[in-house]
Amino acid sequence: MELGEASHLQPPSPLPAGSVALRAAPARRLCTDCGVSRMAEPSLCATACQFIRPDHDALERRVHGRARRTDDDERFFGVSRGMWRARMRAPAQGAQWSGITTALAARLLETGEVDAVLTVRPDPADRWRPEPVIVRSAGDLAACRGMRMGFAPLLAMIEPAIAQGIRRLAVIAIPCQVHALRALEARLGLEELVVIGTPCSDNTSTENFHRFLARLDPDPASIAYLEFRADYQVELRHDDGRRRTIPFIKLPISELGDDFFPTTCRTCVDYCNSLADVCVGYMGGSGRQWVIARNARGERLLDGLGDALERDAPRSAGSRAGAVRGFMRNLERAAGGLPLRRAPDWIRGLLAWLMPRVGPRGLEFARARVEMKAVESIIHLRMKHPRRLRAMVPDHVWRLARPYGLHPEEHERARAGGASPAVRRTPNAT
Ligand SMILES: Cc1cc2nc3c(=O)[nH]c(=O)nc-3n(C[C@H](O)[C@H](O)[C@H](O)COP(=O)(O)OP(=O)(O)OC[C@H]3O[C@@H](n4cnc5c(N)ncnc54)[C@H](O)[C@@H]3O)c2cc1C
Ligand code: SF4
Ligand code: SF4
Repeated sequence: MELGEASHLQPPSPLPAGSVALRAAPARRLCTDCGVSRMAEPSLCATACQFIRPDHDALERRVHGRARRTDDDERFFGVSRGMWRARMRAPAQGAQWSGITTALAARLLETGEVDAVLTVRPDPADRWRPEPVIVRSAGDLAACRGMRMGFAPLLAMIEPAIAQGIRRLAVIAIPCQVHALRALEARLGLEELVVIGTPCSDNTSTENFHRFLARLDPDPASIAYLEFRADYQVELRHDDGRRRTIPFIKLPISELGDDFFPTTCRTCVDYCNSLADVCVGYMGGSGRQWVIARNARGERLLDGLGDALERDAPRSAGSRAGAVRGFMRNLERAAGGLPLRRAPDWIRGLLAWLMPRVGPRGLEFARARVEMKAVESIIHLRMKHPRRLRAMVPDHVWRLARPYGLHPEEHERARAGGASPAVRRTPNAT
């Protein structure tokens, strides 16, 4: 069973203050439990879901007023009015990077521009499990900082928020949540909706993530922080203050099994959160954060942080083509049932040393990751859900995969307006 198939959908646990008891999630096939299926009308999934009948291009035009350009970096990263390497001058305690995301949301509460922020915090019983929460005061947002691996039914909190009288809302969310939110935005009747997004890739269930942690350290319970950095290292921080880095190439990913990453996250086509007002990540940040203001609201939000936010022009170095080709060859071998080629230890050591020095860096690293994701989504969908390609893969993703020899067959080509009739006849609910 895929992760996106109900197995991870837990009944709502008893929730502390700020949280709300949620309905149980009905079973869905490809699903990251964004929360729509737990709303009063679970059938809204058919309209909202990026795995059913998405229309990325139309939503992009509606939210940002235009389509992405195809002749510059927008073809990788989506509509943008400005893109920076950035960090908070005073990095926030507990933040995943320097805390730009939380600072943006906190300011909205402090200035009274929104009544509440919808985000996730650590489940009290498991700090790696994201738990949705409605936050009303800037101070309470501090407890939500940091990254958790897993899926949270964030959007199910919107109806309780509206029932509490909230009409001006900010939401911090990952791309699959933002797609559904934007698709439903018009019917929510909010006076103001501000969307602060982060990129997202390679998410998995919190249970699977614990298996991964157990392979990284003899005392996995002591790991308080993990990040896949843009210098090809995973950084771990422990409760006792220990810090450690492991080169990507030495990670035990191939030991985790084929089902470690769910089909949803292997086929998701919106790495850079293209429908958020502002996107806050790290991939193009060369060791700092990387922010994209997608529209005037996003630009205002970033300007609102004033001097507290340090920004400069993104850097770029190296060439991505070889890295993307190597990644694609491995995917194709795996798709054909062949074992992944693993280099001998000494070569892996050499590569671990070389990649941060000569591999794609800065924006080129981010472009490489976006192209890898495009290639992975297409190859994986062809293997697992070929009939969904037409509905799920927009033209701009096919364009990214084209230099690597991936072209849509006639029956795979995206149609304007979302899904093909064939896909419409394939309901997501099981
Ligand atoms: C599963 C996952 C994968 C990611 N992959 C990438 C990537 O490949 N490349 C990249 O550039 N950035 C990625 N990010 C974003 C990155 O890890 C940081 O969250 C981002 O750079 C913001 O850092 P910050 O210091 O500004 O955030 P903070 O101020 O620490 O705030 C982080 C916010 O993210 C929210 N959050 C944490 N976990 C989740 C979750 N599971 N679901 C929804 N919201 C959550 C928190 O509640 C908090 O509001 C990913 C994030 C997640 C959750
Ligand atoms: S919209 Fe999609 S991801 Fe969200 S609950 Fe429905 S099926 Fe799951
Ligand atoms: S990788 Fe995509 S589908 Fe998976 S959690 Fe992140 S945004 Fe959602």
